Amino acid sequence: MTAPTPAPTSPAAPVSAALFERASAVIPGGVNSPVRAFRAVGGTPRFIASARGPYLTDADGREYVDLLCSWGPMILGHAHPNVLAAVDAAARQGFSFGTPTEREVMLAEAIVARVEPVEQVRLVSSGTEATMSAIRLARGFTGRPVIVKFAGHYHGHVDALLASAGSGLATFALPDTPGVTGTAAGDTIVLPYNDTEALAEVFRQHGDRIACVITEAAAGNMGVVRPQPGFTAELRRITREHGALLVSDEVMTGFRVSAAGWYGFEGLGLEHAPDLLTFGKVMGGGFPAAAFGGRADVMAHLAPAGPVYQAGTLSGNPVATAAGLATLSACTPAVYAAVEAAATTVREAASAALSAAGVPHLVNTAGSMFSVFFTERESVTNYDEARQQDLGAFRGFFHSMLDQGVHLPPSAFEAWFLSASHDETALGRIVEALPAAARAAAEGAGSL
Ligand code: PLP
Repeated sequence: MTAPTPAPTSPAAPVSAALFERASAVIPGGVNSPVRAFRAVGGTPRFIASARGPYLTDADGREYVDLLCSWGPMILGHAHPNVLAAVDAAARQGFSFGTPTEREVMLAEAIVARVEPVEQVRLVSSGTEATMSAIRLARGFTGRPVIVKFAGHYHGHVDALLASAGSGLATFALPDTPGVTGTAAGDTIVLPYNDTEALAEVFRQHGDRIACVITEAAAGNMGVVRPQPGFTAELRRITREHGALLVSDEVMTGFRVSAAGWYGFEGLGLEHAPDLLTFGKVMGGGFPAAAFGGRADVMAHLAPAGPVYQAGTLSGNPVATAAGLATLSACTPAVYAAVEAAATTVREAASAALSAAGVPHLVNTAGSMFSVFFTERESVTNYDEARQQDLGAFRGFFHSMLDQGVHLPPSAFEAWFLSASHDETALGRIVEALPAAARAAAEGAGSL
């Protein structure tokens, strides 16, 4: 047996450091999802004890303005009163029945009402399950084996989709994915994002074997990289021409960048709609609820209506659906406007501070989602370009923000998430911390 990795001591967070040491003895790497371990930035991950509105409080009693928002779900901020009340009421009626419930129907109706191309939807418990099930359905519907995905796009830890998958893998630079067999990944083709020529070539060669193209609606897992003008339309045209399905992964963008997700934000209309869409994060309001849905004739192939098997003990869980419904109902136009305004304030202030400190950088946006690339490049449109970052600069920046009470995602390859609860006070604290963090980025430049 190997000894647990010793936790780096952090004078700023002794209780978190002690917890991390305990965790490392019983949980691989001390965390239940790799990026939480701070390996890309070093130091002690903060163990969070509670959260309210835009603030996290760690086990040492220190407060942080939260720019993680649980990696996307907390669009209303933490412990929103409506969601809390809905969860409380639902839990009092029982936790899980393993039978159909009315609230599942209501959540499915809420999704169908918001996202026009979704005629039917199946609820699951995680984004990974949603994409895994969507590609199984695409294969079952078309009778074809091959999946096309884009480098740097992350669709959860589905075996067939863990090739060149952005964030976690980019951060840890894993050359390969041990545990995924050649058979599982052998029917996956990985293409550079935003490259219509590569797309055309792969369809010329393999068009009649391709079940689907799966794409992040706008990429958020290699940093934020939106589809270039014309790319979504070309994806739609070429998949349709070859009888393949288009699966748009809106786990991150769905119900965040607009009530109708990236589909609604990009606004290309039904003619360019994907056949299937996947959702998660915001639609669960911080609880394990996710979904995939789309054309009724495709969804009709799912068991028990059709032959493609898919199931889940906790699918449509009564407490999770209550949280999801309360969250979606509270996502008014005013909420989207507030998130957009908060994101604009933060990204403009971050860019101004980095410029003042002479730190080369680029801010990419996709609606209210954005990320800062520590790069000299003038544009980032694909994974190769996204990887050309000064990770030392990000590390310096991240730790300075953390020391000043602002919790960024602990990786240069992630979107920064805002919520409607980020009010003037919270935003002011972020803006105040930025100049010193930008100077720390300048000092850290080139160090990794
Ligand atoms: N798809 C996208 C676009 C994601 O961003 C993620 C998670 O970050 C997933 C799928 C997987 O979702 P989950 O972590 O809920 O399995």
